[in-house]
Amino acid sequence: MRLLLVEDNERLAELVSKGLVAAGLVVDRADSIAQAEDALAVARFDAIVLDLGLPDGDGMQLLRRLREQGNSTPLMILTARDGIGARVEGLNAGADDYLIKPFATEELVARVRVMLRRLGTGVGTELGFGDITFDPVARETKVGGQPLALSRRETDLLEHLLRRGGKVVPKRFLEESLYGFDDDVSSNSIEATVSRLRKRLQTAGGEVVVHTVRGLGYMLMLGAK
Ligand code: CA
Repeated sequence: MRLLLVEDNERLAELVSKGLVAAGLVVDRADSIAQAEDALAVARFDAIVLDLGLPDGDGMQLLRRLREQGNSTPLMILTARDGIGARVEGLNAGADDYLIKPFATEELVARVRVMLRRLGTGVGTELGFGDITFDPVARETKVGGQPLALSRRETDLLEHLLRRGGKVVPKRFLEESLYGFDDDVSSNSIEATVSRLRKRLQTAGGEVVVHTVRGLGYMLMLGAK
């Protein structure tokens, strides 16, 4: 699945892009309408995430042009604009969804997935490792077929670990993905979340453990049952 992210705020683009990559998407970035048009001229995308306030014009122009050309790629608008007007205008112009800034990266990722799934693509497919299964759209975790209650952050952490399928996930990556711009990330908080997830998995009595790779990050492993 290949997604075009059109966003001129570099920091936001970086964060959103990381979240989408972690969700299994290939992300191409453009920071202006001109760059987006160049990308769209040479590649086929499965989805577009489009900021409206761009340095060389209004993203709405690009959206209108695409739909006029018969391009129906699923498209989500990002807008800082208040009021129903801009949203209705976007949806009328053929956007499939919109998100008002500021937003949490997790929400954007979840909504892109829902948008793709609604359109019959495979991003929402269930994840698994050992006796853990996870439904990324419903956000439901099961261990040995039994539902396991996890907090939102524990769920996000587990999802990142599952998406790497037993490979190390760098701690820095988790910090950037699990915490938004405004969250205060003390390095403790990732450790605390890992520790809570580890306990919950242990209590559930499954075969999967969260292993710490010193100095690197975390990974899922099959432990002794
Ligand atoms: Ca902007």
